[in-house]
Amino acid sequence: MSTETTNKDILRGGQFLVKETKCEDVFTLEDLNEEQKMMRESTKEFVDRELWAHWERFEKKDYAYTEECMKKAGELGLLSVAVPESYGGMGMGFVSTMLVCDYISGATGSFSTAFGAHTGIGTMPITLYGTEEQKQKYVPKLATGEWFGAYCLTEPGAGSDANSGKTKAVLSEDGKYYSISGQKMWISNAGFCNMFIVFARIEDDKNITGFIVENDPENGISLGDEEKKLGIHSSSTRQVFFNETKVPVENMLSERGNGFKIAMNALNIGRIKLAAACLEAQRRIVNEATKYANERIQFKTPIINFGAIKAKIADMVTNAYVDEAACYRAAKNIEDRIAIREASGNSHQEAELKGVEEYAIECSILKVAVSEHVQHTTDEGIQVFGGMGFSADTPMESAWRDARISRIYEGTNEINRMLSVGMLVKKAMKGHVDLLGPATAVGEELMGIPSFETPDFSELFAEEKDLVARLKKVFLMVAGSAVQKFGPDLDKHQMLLMAASDILIQVYMAESAILRTEKNAKRYGEDSQAAQIAMSKLYLYRAVDIIQQKAKEGIVSFAEGDEQRMMLMGLKRFTKYTNQPNVVALRTQIADKVAADNGYTFD
Ligand SMILES: Cc1cc2nc3c(=O)[nH]c(=O)nc-3n(C[C@H](O)[C@H](O)[C@H](O)COP(=O)(O)OP(=O)(O)OC[C@H]3O[C@@H](n4cnc5c(N)ncnc54)[C@H](O)[C@@H]3O)c2cc1C
Repeated sequence: MSTETTNKDILRGGQFLVKETKCEDVFTLEDLNEEQKMMRESTKEFVDRELWAHWERFEKKDYAYTEECMKKAGELGLLSVAVPESYGGMGMGFVSTMLVCDYISGATGSFSTAFGAHTGIGTMPITLYGTEEQKQKYVPKLATGEWFGAYCLTEPGAGSDANSGKTKAVLSEDGKYYSISGQKMWISNAGFCNMFIVFARIEDDKNITGFIVENDPENGISLGDEEKKLGIHSSSTRQVFFNETKVPVENMLSERGNGFKIAMNALNIGRIKLAAACLEAQRRIVNEATKYANERIQFKTPIINFGAIKAKIADMVTNAYVDEAACYRAAKNIEDRIAIREASGNSHQEAELKGVEEYAIECSILKVAVSEHVQHTTDEGIQVFGGMGFSADTPMESAWRDARISRIYEGTNEINRMLSVGMLVKKAMKGHVDLLGPATAVGEELMGIPSFETPDFSELFAEEKDLVARLKKVFLMVAGSAVQKFGPDLDKHQMLLMAASDILIQVYMAESAILRTEKNAKRYGEDSQAAQIAMSKLYLYRAVDIIQQKAKEGIVSFAEGDEQRMMLMGLKRFTKYTNQPNVVALRTQIADKVAADNGYTFD
């Protein structure tokens, strides 16, 4: 790791809200090194050849083809990017891991789910928590695709409430093995995996325990039929039944009762990777929609010339650009944090675990924002195609159905929204992020007289950055007052938490886009970034609208009288534009660029 990285003041997780980030300190897709660019190209080639060209097979529930493609991905090393070299992997950094996850996931949700379940939640619990023996035994096989993994947490009665599972693990009298019995549900890769990560409860323990369980039908393991699903038709999803399955004691992961922690940490990584996995789908849909809109003639005009279609293309492409900015910003923060921990003596395992845990707030933010954007983009993709979009003969229909699952698994978006705010408040209580100081300062500012000076907003993004700083104050004002009012009971006020989370999400996403564009404008010149500047401004404009609405919802619900009036005035002040952007002009500029390029050209 370079000295520069060690000495850099990398923000802690959640600190983006109270500290300014300089554009030079964010990593962007434009910062990829040559090795990463080559990795991206070979991943794209694999996807075009094996997945995109055969997308119909994935719609016809060709589970065997998904497995075959997973094997091929293994042969090309694409399953081993995140696995340390000592266990047969490539040992590449977190950014490269995200990059492969991003570009491999755009063609079909069936493959991306199989890939994510195997490389993420199916493998990571062992690389992060396994003993040396466990890692030597299982990880090399998982890294090459000789074996495939699955992750068994969910049960019929334990979904979001994941620690409430009923699956039992009973120690044998001779103390040599555990006997696992129980029913797991919705298990991705169940139909072809060689190994399960299983969570079960020992006696009446408060928390579940993790185990590595080899898939052996002779050992009390049986599968339900393939689930009939709305989308991801060729991703194997089955129930898994364990009937006194014998698992050697040495296959326990970490310690007894540590399973919930393992499950949650595996999900933290899973969440940011899921966000990455929703990027390439957006790019490909923008490409398809743009090509179609350029070619489709109605009223003697290519439909791309219609403002109604331009607005859709502009919003779709803007979301993809913003999502890239936020995902790679967070990925590099995680990579740097891991490097810093390793440099200070942590093992790679420990460093990776803590590095990702540090940014769990950002992981939840990204999971929600990007999964909702891909849903919107696929929906608008259908609309651009009109009737043809509704036809199963075009890729829009399956993309729309495939996108839907991302809002449900890896923790539903409701759970992740609550987690993002809940974790931030906890971090503040522990003193890891100082929210109290800035929140008090906002309170004082509300009582003071506003400045009537006209600021100098002549520099690129001067007004937008000032606005982002004020949007952060909106969060501090609303969430700070809610914490004061409800204290430890805040988690009972879910509607407020949802609103606060939406403010947090919009701030992070809008700021990430502005920083990415500012960095690129400085090094490549503003003219070369004209469309990116427009996208950053458009996203911020939309973010301000959402924040105004969500903050108002909160304020009028928990504050009354003078307090309410003061906060509403504060909201007006904190969300005020001095120069309102011309939104129609921005959308037109963005759509015209995409139309001229006949697709997405910003990555
Ligand atoms: C295709 C597919 C693949 C999957 N793959 C796997 C896998 O490989 N391994 C695995 O272990 N699991 C897997 N899952 C399970 C998935 O993680 C769960 O479906 C998800 O966590 C939600 O749990 P649930 O379905 O029981 O919904 P529930 O928890 O019953 O939730 C139903 C609704 O209630 C909301 N809700 C629940 N609790 C609260 C609360 N406290 N406050 C507010 N709202 C709440 C939810 O947000 C949701 O909207 C998969 C699911 C699907 C559909």
